Amino acid sequence: MSKEFKENYDKITHKFENSWETISNDEETILYRFADEYKVFLDNGKTERECVDVILRIAKLNGFRDLKECIANDEEVKPGMKIYGNNKGKSAVILIVGEDNIQDGMNIIGTHLDSPRLDIKPFPLYEDGGLALLKTHYYGWVKKYQWASIPIALHGVVFKKNGEKVNLVIGENENDPVFFISDLLPHLAKNQMVKKLSEGITGEGLNIIVGSIPLGDKDIDTKVKFHIMKILNNKYGIEEDDFAVAEIQAVPATKARDVGLDRGLVAGYGHDDRACSFAALRAILEVDKPKRTCAVVFADKEEVGSNGNTGMESKFFENIIAELIALQNRNYNEIFLRRALARSKALSGDVMAAFNPNFPDVLDKRNAAFLGKGVTLVKYTGSRGKLNCNDANSEFIMNVRNIFNENNITWQIGELGKVDQGGAGTIAYALANYGAEVIDCGVPVINMHAPYELISKIDLYMTFKGYKAFLKDA
Ligand code: MN
Ligand code: MN
Repeated sequence: MSKEFKENYDKITHKFENSWETISNDEETILYRFADEYKVFLDNGKTERECVDVILRIAKLNGFRDLKECIANDEEVKPGMKIYGNNKGKSAVILIVGEDNIQDGMNIIGTHLDSPRLDIKPFPLYEDGGLALLKTHYYGWVKKYQWASIPIALHGVVFKKNGEKVNLVIGENENDPVFFISDLLPHLAKNQMVKKLSEGITGEGLNIIVGSIPLGDKDIDTKVKFHIMKILNNKYGIEEDDFAVAEIQAVPATKARDVGLDRGLVAGYGHDDRACSFAALRAILEVDKPKRTCAVVFADKEEVGSNGNTGMESKFFENIIAELIALQNRNYNEIFLRRALARSKALSGDVMAAFNPNFPDVLDKRNAAFLGKGVTLVKYTGSRGKLNCNDANSEFIMNVRNIFNENNITWQIGELGKVDQGGAGTIAYALANYGAEVIDCGVPVINMHAPYELISKIDLYMTFKGYKAFLKDA
């Protein structure tokens, strides 16, 4: 090829590059450190409640103040003010007031903190075959068989009759016991093995073994169960009916770990969507005195349809913005809130399915995201002909692309599956309902929704960089 053709070829055709091949040595060092911090974040936040605790603790250390406090003091909201809103300890918003009026719109990143898991039922404890077990009801879209034969930890809150709150975390410490869901030995699995993968382990079969040693005399017929109840009572003061008012979640008792001899990948529980949540948190911490108000929304309930008063379908986010506007403007009018939201630009920060060499046929390779190629922009999600998708507007995608290009952010595109292969949604539609411009943008993942998911460190870092540039420049 002549030089002229070569230049022309490079200019008008495009190849999404591998970020590892373009990143500087300095940044490579930074991104490894970033990933180390992320692993700690993942290990400390295995439920939405724990994540909110960690995020708000970090926010407070960085000068963010509780919106409730500002309301109580009737404080005037000034540019540069750093504020957080805590919604029932399960979802949260952190924001920095911009120089422009909030009514001119905000730059928003919306992520979610809930991850697929097994929730403990309201009356869960029983005994069978000399074992004590807990009944569960799975939360979100899981492949049930993946939850058998792995170490399980229990996390959650229990309220005693005197109102005292007990925070449970059992199975994370090296010396803790773990819990276990049993599968069937292959020797006796003749019938199971010919079942569909979705039926080999059933929902009602996801019972967690929590004990085996009987306690008590002949009159008691469920001595193992009694023993477990006794331990819970001695240690935490819990009685059996307290389960009915508790929220206890079974999660993998695993730590986030580097994967590969070159340590480029991270395996962990809850990359969906704590990878984007961490990237967004770190991004807003590095924003100072922005022109437009910056907000990061950490939603709950995304995995079960965004309903409930901590999910994105609820009013928690707009209520927080309404409070903020009311502090800024004594003559509050609802139209101010609507303008603020409708003039906003948002990245729906959620993970995206990445190309998986073990299953190469489910994605259109030309439009798929790959591990290592950077932060992923997803114009639309949905299924069966983009059903229920938010389809980002061209004008806005251009805006985001320019910001990424100007800031040396390696980005790629993604599509959730080949046409008619399946699909899913994110919280993008909920932000778009306000009239805001929204595009899905986040970290590509292999093995999504499994107890152990896989991401690339460089994609996580590029997502952080992308979010930061967006908050500052959009
Ligand atoms: Mn997600
Ligand atoms: Mn998900």
